[in-house]
Amino acid sequence: MRSDPAGYELVAPGSLHAVVSLLAAEPGAWMPIAGGTDVMVQYAAGTLSARKLVSLWNLPELRRIQASADEIRIGAGSTYTDLRQHNVLQREFPLLTSAARWTGGIANQNRGTLGGNIVNASPAADSLPALLVYDAELILVSARGERRVRYVDFHTGYKKTQLASDELIQAICLSRRLVGYLSYSRKVGARNAQAISKVCIAALGRVVRGVIEDVRIAMGSVAPVPLRLSQTEHVVKGQAVNPELRLRAERAAIAEIRPIDDIRSTAAYRAAVSGKLVAEFLEKLAADQRRA
Ligand SMILES: Cc1cc2nc3c(=O)[nH]c(=O)nc-3n(C[C@H](O)[C@H](O)[C@H](O)COP(=O)(O)OP(=O)(O)OC[C@H]3O[C@@H](n4cnc5c(N)ncnc54)[C@H](O)[C@@H]3O)c2cc1C
Repeated sequence: MRSDPAGYELVAPGSLHAVVSLLAAEPGAWMPIAGGTDVMVQYAAGTLSARKLVSLWNLPELRRIQASADEIRIGAGSTYTDLRQHNVLQREFPLLTSAARWTGGIANQNRGTLGGNIVNASPAADSLPALLVYDAELILVSARGERRVRYVDFHTGYKKTQLASDELIQAICLSRRLVGYLSYSRKVGARNAQAISKVCIAALGRVVRGVIEDVRIAMGSVAPVPLRLSQTEHVVKGQAVNPELRLRAERAAIAEIRPIDDIRSTAAYRAAVSGKLVAEFLEKLAADQRRA
């Protein structure tokens, strides 16, 4: 059933300082809303339990994307369109800009934010495997100050995060040290646009003198949280890419993930596709090495 707007309060204090002060004054009472593309779905369905909403939309402190020599710092309020249009992100972090390109449709990309995608904590969220592969770190802010956490530690279980009730994500930091890698990403869904992933993958790899020197693989929609496939990485690291290795990697990936049956797909389909995606990534790595 649709919600009654009269039952809700929305404030827009206009600065980060004012928002964190409000969260500190009444911990747990206010729910942040950024682009609203997840929150408003709950509102429309009548399932939004929060009654007091504080807007983060367009706060300048959350909308900046700043590149330094070592890292790029993405304000959590940056939209998918902001990410897609940023030169450094396009050039150096294509896994993130690809995910932004296939998240929802254009309207959704103009409103939906990276911070919202992280805190909404869906295991199917498209940008999160890229954050795992790039070793992202999050800057969390509250009236108590800032703290920096590794993104890999942030999602602690299905829809659970490390965020305290008075905290916001201020920024997402990506190190610029992962250069010279082949990037591979795919979203498998019912169609290309406006579909939640049945499975998605983000991977980086580097082959030196015929051997996989480094590899990073993460998937979405295959476990309660977005998952880095460390065991599969271990199987392929230091090995030459050949058909036998592709088969071993496919099996390792299937053994490592924990997919479920739900309205979008089945565990069996997700497992089969996940294995094939990892094998395809290795094929691309081998082809890339032949071209080099
Ligand atoms: C039509 C449609 C299609 C979609 N397609 C996709 C898709 O293909 N792939 C995909 O991954 N997602 C998809 N989504 C989901 C959604 O667009 C994304 O998760 C988006 O990134 C959410 O960002 P937002 O700013 O709109 O979040 P909001 O709805 O504003 O907030 C979501 C949650 O994050 C919290 N929050 C937001 N920002 C912060 C912050 N800085 N600090 C702390 N908490 C914060 C809010 O309190 C809330 O709990 C789709 C949604 C719709 C409606």
